[in-house]
Amino acid sequence: MKRVIILKFIGFIILNFTGIMANSQNKIPAGQLFNEMKKMRQVLHNSPEYSHKEEQTAKILLGYLEPTKPDYLHKNIGGYGVVAGYKGKGNGPSVMFRCEMDAIKTEMGFEHLCGHDGHMAILLGLSQIVSENRDFDGTVWLLFQPAEEIGEGASMMAKELKELGIKFDYAFALHNHPGYPLNSIIIHEGVYAAGSVGMEVRFKGSPSHAAYPEQAVSPYNAIVSTADYMKSLNTDKESFKDFILGTVVNITLGEINYGVTPGEGYLRMTLRSFADEDLDKLCSMMERFAKAKGEEDKLEVTIAYFDRFPATVNDNSANSMVEAAAKSAGLEIIYAKEPTRGSDDFCFFAFDSLSSFFDIGNGTDGEDIHRSGYKFSDQIMETALNIYRTMIYNFKVR
Ligand SMILES: [Zn+2]
Ligand SMILES: [Zn+2]
Repeated sequence: MKRVIILKFIGFIILNFTGIMANSQNKIPAGQLFNEMKKMRQVLHNSPEYSHKEEQTAKILLGYLEPTKPDYLHKNIGGYGVVAGYKGKGNGPSVMFRCEMDAIKTEMGFEHLCGHDGHMAILLGLSQIVSENRDFDGTVWLLFQPAEEIGEGASMMAKELKELGIKFDYAFALHNHPGYPLNSIIIHEGVYAAGSVGMEVRFKGSPSHAAYPEQAVSPYNAIVSTADYMKSLNTDKESFKDFILGTVVNITLGEINYGVTPGEGYLRMTLRSFADEDLDKLCSMMERFAKAKGEEDKLEVTIAYFDRFPATVNDNSANSMVEAAAKSAGLEIIYAKEPTRGSDDFCFFAFDSLSSFFDIGNGTDGEDIHRSGYKFSDQIMETALNIYRTMIYNFKVR
């Protein structure tokens, strides 16, 4: 769908990566800006807020963004989301860069253990550059997205932006990636992140006294065999085009009451796949099995779905812009062997845009994201800023 809408642009765009530095000179010395970004990140780091609660974070962002005098500044989009737009001198596409605003919940309260503070500081640094030097074509949009960790912010923002008539021809996002060499650029051809959905199966029979289990219609067997069936699909190479994975996340059966045979139970699973059609197929295979099992055991079966994420799929032309910018900066490029198994709600922006989601290596030692002891590497910010800047100032519509 996204390709149909945007393809017309491609014919007019010439990527010109010669004379990069000439085009992207700015008044603020690079070293000074980088130091400012480090300070901005620290301020954001010290104000971690959970998904949908990013009120103070939005205030801090606006405090930095307002003096850059964007042509458009939208607040409270999809919750506390902020979107700033800067018009270049020439006509051209609208190009969006997205970062996330939320911290994660830990034993300590809330902490920026995913590096979103760093991702925000990158776009704040970029705001200063595009504000000062308008020698680019089209409009640059900097998008600060709330509630990414719980996968709700992007779809809420995308809906409101549509109502405001804001469209992005191109959409870019990056994530720091521990375990890869510092400042290496990890490019995903095709699928960046898996699609996923939460599936809840409720089996309802009737309870009995625990001394007379034969009188009960218990969902026990149906739950166990449905979970086993899902496990068998995980290794079924025949039925699916690409990778699929089902994980049992919760089973609830009866109450904690030693006198009762349970009459009701829930099996909750997360199903994921790299291809959206595989996820549809997986869901319908699971549904069919659960319903048949219910019928066999005389149980009522109800199925509900939660948090559906389509797969995030990168576009080749958008990827090649990132690749060319990384090459011109002499950075190490790594082509990812397989997509990320986790989902990302960036897909809700990627639908109607040519998009690229890439990773930047956070260093090979150090903890993974979401783990205590994780540390965002500040050097990434300079690398990311250079890539984005190169893309903006060398993306010419003729
Ligand atoms: Zn995270
Ligand atoms: Zn993250």
